[in-house]
Amino acid sequence: MTTGHQLRLYNSLGRRIEDFSPSAAVTGMYSCGPTVYAFPHLGNMRAYVFADTLRRGLRWKGIPVRHVINITDVGNAVADTDTGEDKLEVAAARERRSVDDIAAFYTRAFFDDMAALNILPPDEYPRATAYVGQMIEFATRLEERGYTYRLPSGLYFDTAKVPDYGALALLDVEGQREAARVEHVEGRRRKTDFALWRTEGPGQRRIMRWDSPWGPGAPGWHLECSVMSIALLGPHFDIHTGGVDHRELHHVNEIAQSEAWLGDGQPWVRYWLHNEFLQLGAQKMAKSAGGAPRLADLTEAGYHPMAFRLFLLGGHYRSQLDFTVTALDAAQATLQRLVTRVQPLRPLPDADTLAIATARISDRDAVAAKLLDQIDAAIAADLNTPKVLAILQDTLREPAITRNGQGVIVAACDALLGLGLASLDPRDLDGRRDTASLTTGERQAIEKLVAERTEARAEQDWARADQIRVELEQLGVQVTDTPDGPTWDLR
Ligand SMILES: [Zn+2]
Repeated sequence: MTTGHQLRLYNSLGRRIEDFSPSAAVTGMYSCGPTVYAFPHLGNMRAYVFADTLRRGLRWKGIPVRHVINITDVGNAVADTDTGEDKLEVAAARERRSVDDIAAFYTRAFFDDMAALNILPPDEYPRATAYVGQMIEFATRLEERGYTYRLPSGLYFDTAKVPDYGALALLDVEGQREAARVEHVEGRRRKTDFALWRTEGPGQRRIMRWDSPWGPGAPGWHLECSVMSIALLGPHFDIHTGGVDHRELHHVNEIAQSEAWLGDGQPWVRYWLHNEFLQLGAQKMAKSAGGAPRLADLTEAGYHPMAFRLFLLGGHYRSQLDFTVTALDAAQATLQRLVTRVQPLRPLPDADTLAIATARISDRDAVAAKLLDQIDAAIAADLNTPKVLAILQDTLREPAITRNGQGVIVAACDALLGLGLASLDPRDLDGRRDTASLTTGERQAIEKLVAERTEARAEQDWARADQIRVELEQLGVQVTDTPDGPTWDLR
């Protein structure tokens, strides 16, 4: 499968495209996971579709990966500041549930979205609450080495002790010291200094609290990721991913504390990869008028989760994408066309037999061999998924390719893009909703119209009956008159 193009990735550390060469037999890869106090929105999920694309690219290049995504179930203060209330505790109070219930509920919601988007499950999903002991040990070592100072509000990392602090963010520390975007903390020496441990204030009693050498409290958010990644991937590993917003602060702080803790003068992680934002701004899905749209809003509106995945992969991960209904409609239509054209080619080679199938077809079909080389070149060039998608579409229109060759190319693209083309049913994609997906309100509104139509017919008011039928059709409802009265279904 590896037809020879060197894999090159954009490393945020240094801001340049570099050859990727693994430093170990198995590549360690850590992706910052969700804080489980609310439903993940579509923008959040872009980070995991990106991490999954990277994993699939590495798999294509024959590079084994051990992937970790953490679940932050404590210790992330509201607005990602060092002080103030904990997001989980705020959510628990708002929803009148325990913090454990909140964490379990929103972790499940995150897993559901991961599965719906066909994201390969990571090898580990560590939960922060299971690592608090190790976080305390980690911070203790930093204190022993003189990297910290104590304040009444907690234990702080002294960023002045790290000469290249902020290199990842190309951070101007002097500038940031003046910047007003960082909250004021009494006694903090530099605005870039951050809490390793958040000690309870006088009269404050957190729900989630642990004893520590710095008083009862909770770990700082940045500390969690350093500790869990090192615990599961070893002191140094190759790849760390996250949204581009993490590049400026969270990852800067992870690097500072981890390199201080290691003390070996080596870079902690070799490659830092960040995905750009999904702009959710202008157009919101009807259902989520209050907040950012979720995957469930799309599926309830008749879109397939793979249409959203295809929409994301139609842009490069380092490009900002605007989420619009028009773009999503186009993605759903493209997916429908792909699935319809792929169907006669089934069964496709699966992930296990793909390597053999590509090697065989390369010997027998020159057109397929050329397309495979183009696919390899595209994915090796910093994961150019829009290009892979274009090759896939060209392949299905290419008259000179054998049918077997087409099947192999489709399977190769599918292994990289993760659209599930081998198993998607065109009927899943016609936007049809089944009646079970209707809300009680929608169902009542439809039944009211059907009853009004029946009444109009009984009164022989055909014009009115016809007008209601048109209204129902616009809602996607088909009414059938039977001897027992009218029945209805979604078209
Ligand atoms: Zn993190």
